[in-house]
Amino acid sequence: MLPCCVEPSVPTTASTTPLTTGPDELWMEEALRSAQRALEAGEVPVGAVVVCGDRIVGRGWNRNITDSDPAAHAEIIALRAAGAALGNHRLTECELFATIEPCAMCAGALVHARIKRLVYGAADPKAGAVHSVMQVLNHSQLNHTVEVRNGVLAGRCAELLQTFFKSRR
Ligand SMILES: [Zn+2]
Repeated sequence: MLPCCVEPSVPTTASTTPLTTGPDELWMEEALRSAQRALEAGEVPVGAVVVCGDRIVGRGWNRNITDSDPAAHAEIIALRAAGAALGNHRLTECELFATIEPCAMCAGALVHARIKRLVYGAADPKAGAVHSVMQVLNHSQLNHTVEVRNGVLAGRCAELLQTFFKSRR
């Protein structure tokens, strides 16, 4: 007979459930949160975060109308914030997460920043400068190469934009 205090042993591995979302998806959630801020401000809802190690060092959302600034795209704002936070204009150990495929200006800025990796959500068939319209990143004549992953939470990223453009019709 077993003493009453002995409980059946439970293998510890049984309680660990596998992650259904990876870290890229989690950071993209943060970029989506930023895009939501743009939407609330009446701006085109695009959001971006710069991640270094396991923390966000820069965050941005479109502010063109708010700031009367043609260059105030989410990615540019996030890159500027990251540079200021790290005290370095080179972001060689950083990754940028953007809800939409970056335009030519932002892709160019990613090269100037020497960003290590870009992760984006939905493609931009009209102005995307990574795959869609132009290929600014990893251009054969540029020295800097950027690792790229696309399509992360793409449906939700695109949906925000569609909601915005529908509401303006
Ligand atoms: Zn841009």
